[in-house]
Amino acid sequence: MRCAICGFELDSVDEAVEQGWIPEFYEGETEHGFACPGCSKVFLECGEDGEIEVKEEYRGKITYRDEKPKENWVMGVIVR
Ligand SMILES: [Zn+2]
Repeated sequence: MRCAICGFELDSVDEAVEQGWIPEFYEGETEHGFACPGCSKVFLECGEDGEIEVKEEYRGKITYRDEKPKENWVMGVIVR
């Protein structure tokens, strides 16, 4: 898994869970994931509806690294 905000990569899902990685979060209607503990502390907060959201002051300012993941693209080609 890779942090959508800073791009930090971690191979072990168990380790990520242990460290408190966030599996998904929202900026407006857009879903992103994952977020490492460092980034989630700085950029994310728990919204009114219980979902993890980007803090208002950072919305529209983060360049996400989770867009069009290569793995999915490769999978799509194989499936077809
Ligand atoms: Zn991060």
